[in-house]
Amino acid sequence: DILNWYYKNNYEFPWRNNSDPYAIWLSEVMLQQTQTSTVIPFYNRWLARLPDIQSVAKSHIDIILKMWEGLGYYNRARNFHTACKIIIKKHNGKMPRDLSTFSTLPGVGPYIASAVMSIAFNVPVPAIDGNAVRVSSRINSVNIPFPKSKQIINSYLENLIDVEHPGDFNQAIMDLGRELCTPTHPSCQTCPVQNYCSSFVDNTVDKYPIRLKKQPAPNLKVAVGIIWKNNKILISRRKDGGFLGGLWEFPGGKIKQGESGSECVVRELLEELNVLVHPISHIKNVRHSYTHFSITMEAYKCQYKSGEIKAVGCADFRWVHPQEMKQLAFPRASHKLFDSIEGFVSI
Ligand code: SF4
Repeated sequence: DILNWYYKNNYEFPWRNNSDPYAIWLSEVMLQQTQTSTVIPFYNRWLARLPDIQSVAKSHIDIILKMWEGLGYYNRARNFHTACKIIIKKHNGKMPRDLSTFSTLPGVGPYIASAVMSIAFNVPVPAIDGNAVRVSSRINSVNIPFPKSKQIINSYLENLIDVEHPGDFNQAIMDLGRELCTPTHPSCQTCPVQNYCSSFVDNTVDKYPIRLKKQPAPNLKVAVGIIWKNNKILISRRKDGGFLGGLWEFPGGKIKQGESGSECVVRELLEELNVLVHPISHIKNVRHSYTHFSITMEAYKCQYKSGEIKAVGCADFRWVHPQEMKQLAFPRASHKLFDSIEGFVSI
């Protein structure tokens, strides 16, 4: 029933009807944590510039991060880049066709591995994303929250998967979760599997999936320095691996308790880049929300005083003209300062 519904509706996306395993893998990496409508322009731009594994592997990380800029969760881009390089080096440029080998690549977790292998190579494994959890939990009235329910959901889907069309089956579950079995106000009346859905029959759909109580997202206060010299601004690069790793930013950091924003900038600049700066004026505050927290960023126009600049607490630094900043990947919060900065004159 679910496959019939899937074939009948035939939801069009640029990555459907594309049998290139690389393109399928890219789409799944982008779609993890990001909505379909957001992904489409990024996916099209990426494929136009980086059409295959070779082109990704050959690209500098700055290009990769710039192409990803705005999609968030930058670890996905860094891992995809590293994984493509590994495929060139260890697998003759060909994507592994089996689940266990593909799973050894960086960034390839159980969901990506199952989704890509089932869609690209017909490997009959269920792909468990948020949609699969929601649909399966409601159909079976699963009374424990995810990830504790993972085994139950996996067994259920393993029994149900169409071994001849595992990719279509997984995509049908995703489509059902996205289009009908939505987090709120699901369209049960038009659902192709309502007769098998125990929570629909019991009128308890709203109860599933069982959710753990969410903690309120904390707000972090940070301060950054906009340091001018000879019409250029000093920017630093975050270390790889951590949150927003590899991206460029205006140097600064978290404001400590009892510290003012300008004091924080002076301390952070010394710690991070070995320079002494003098904050001249407060530019503005920007607020930005990430998935699990938000930040309030205080920006200060600063004068460079002394010190030989060294990348002590960051991966790299650079003096750039404001126009050059647009060629580099910055976090969204930093973008909110770009317009204010361009209007400044050099100190
Ligand atoms: Fe989801 Fe409703 Fe369909 Fe059950 S009947 S799978 S709750 S849309």
